[in-house]
Amino acid sequence: MLHTLRLLPKVELHLHLETSLRLRRLMEQGPHSDPPLEGPHLVADPQAFTGYDRLRRMRYASRAGRIPDALYTRENIARITAEVLAAAAAQHIRYVEIRVGGRRGFSTLGVRPMLEAMAEAAARAAPQTQAGFIVTVVRERGPEQAEQIVQEAAACRDCGVVGIDLAGDEANYPPAMFVRAVDRAREAGLGITVHAGEFTGPASVWTSIYQLGAQRIGHGIRAVEDPELLAYLREHRVTLELCPTSNLRLGLVASLAEHPMRTLLKAGVPVTVNSDDPVLLGTDLTRELAAVQAALGLSMETVTALMRHAARASFLPPERRAALEQEVARPLAAS
Ligand SMILES: [Zn+2]
Repeated sequence: MLHTLRLLPKVELHLHLETSLRLRRLMEQGPHSDPPLEGPHLVADPQAFTGYDRLRRMRYASRAGRIPDALYTRENIARITAEVLAAAAAQHIRYVEIRVGGRRGFSTLGVRPMLEAMAEAAARAAPQTQAGFIVTVVRERGPEQAEQIVQEAAACRDCGVVGIDLAGDEANYPPAMFVRAVDRAREAGLGITVHAGEFTGPASVWTSIYQLGAQRIGHGIRAVEDPELLAYLREHRVTLELCPTSNLRLGLVASLAEHPMRTLLKAGVPVTVNSDDPVLLGTDLTRELAAVQAALGLSMETVTALMRHAARASFLPPERRAALEQEVARPLAAS
């Protein structure tokens, strides 16, 4: 089954470049013997926490924050982007939206140099795997920095920026704080996706839609608690970027069998499956699909429908989106 799923033409919409972790791995795999990184000090066990608190500790425990600033070079950013794209090509992913900006990269190297390096890697990647970039705005950094980042992202459309993403502490930094920044992004023609309904309830999905005009919601699993919201998502085709392993690892669902994906599909909500932080979570899109297929008994038709949803919700221009949708809707040749 894994083999069939690997061959299936796929689309992935929610994948963080997670610069620091990939950079760390790059350094560890490298031929030179850099001094080993110092281990984390007094990090509480991530398993003692759930949700965003666990995510923060997981990242820290993997020593993501201990990468020297000197590693943020154009060359390294291009290398880790190439790594993501090679992994996508090996899985027959036809189009992937890679998000970047959550960590130190933007402050160390700068927005434009980061995106230029990513664009260079995309230009050299296998032609059957296309990429779009989403710039992540971190809620905790506040509305002013959000506006600044959006402005810089909008100026990098020539590098392949197709959208912006709002991420971070959902509970304490609500959408209302970012209305101006997101309006600017929309005016610049960028797609809008918002991490919501992951650590907090349906209200955060509603406000992401009403206040920010989110076309897609990162995770959004807690929408299942509100039947009216489900109806709204279906009618307005607001797409959910589900990341099942991420939800499991962060303790948001007890098991994949209990993941609300089935309920969401039944309610007619356009859902997609994604790997979120593949390095941190030890997963990829193919494995995600195999896992949900096994846990929830999804048919191959449903898996193809997930890919169609992803193609339709991509931030590509309409004609390229339509072509992508056709490509993933094609039945898989006998293998
Ligand atoms: Zn995410």
